[in-house]
Amino acid sequence: MEKPIWEWSLEQTRTVTDRARAGRDLTPPSWPDGARAAVALSFDFDAETGWLRRNQHSPAAMARGGYGARVGIPRILNLFDKYDLPASFFVPAVAAQLHPEAVDAILKCGRHEIGIHGWIHELAQDLTPDQERELLTNSFDFWKDRLGKPPAGIRTPSWDFTPHTLGILRDLGLLYDSSLMEDDRPYELLENGEPTGIVELPVEWLLDDYPYFQIDRASGSSPYIHPNAVLEIWQAEFDLACQEGTLFLLTMHPQVIGHRSRLAMLEDLIQTILNTPDIWFATHESVARYVLEY
Ligand SMILES: [Zn+2]
Repeated sequence: MEKPIWEWSLEQTRTVTDRARAGRDLTPPSWPDGARAAVALSFDFDAETGWLRRNQHSPAAMARGGYGARVGIPRILNLFDKYDLPASFFVPAVAAQLHPEAVDAILKCGRHEIGIHGWIHELAQDLTPDQERELLTNSFDFWKDRLGKPPAGIRTPSWDFTPHTLGILRDLGLLYDSSLMEDDRPYELLENGEPTGIVELPVEWLLDDYPYFQIDRASGSSPYIHPNAVLEIWQAEFDLACQEGTLFLLTMHPQVIGHRSRLAMLEDLIQTILNTPDIWFATHESVARYVLEY
């Protein structure tokens, strides 16, 4: 049996702390066209898989997932068309197959990026290492075929990350991951102290619509916060990202942010950012490429 954690040597402790670690800060001296900060807005388009991952498949749950495809995606695409802005969408392969028309709509305008988000939003912690590898490889192959080129990056489903995940991402040759929280700035991922060449574009619950808004009867979670309060938090995060000259990254979900009052809040935020001089809006892929190449 494994020793209790308080009996571990420092060396043994490092074997778990160093599996996927932040390496060098990749914030560039300046962003394209002299911009002060980069803004990368992303949408995890889970649709029904957000419920299926927990074996919930009642018609009521499926309807909530369907809202993301039927209402959320068209509203988000209209908003981004209005301001001619790029976004990154992370889509489980099953959600993409249930809603091919939504994927076509995302790809049609040519500005947006689609990245990997698992096969059916599986929770990696429930899988064997072989199952995790197979599902991520199948997801990569699905998008390679659908996009006509390999996907550049991944947001792991539920930001879950096992001791095996980074090795799988390396084997798939991915440019970036956007699932970990060791910094606000882009950084290079280290695996057991070794640089991997993979860019991490970090996430945070604070910069995610889900914990502020998503009501989930099954878990008893029923947060509600006025959209303007979230706007204030996100604006403060954006202001500091500008002062630090680094990255402002949001994770949103079409079934969460796609509701009327929240989308109006997102539009307010976009207008604030657009009224700030020298800001670079980019997909996650563009940010990752830029910080590796500057
Ligand atoms: Zn998701």
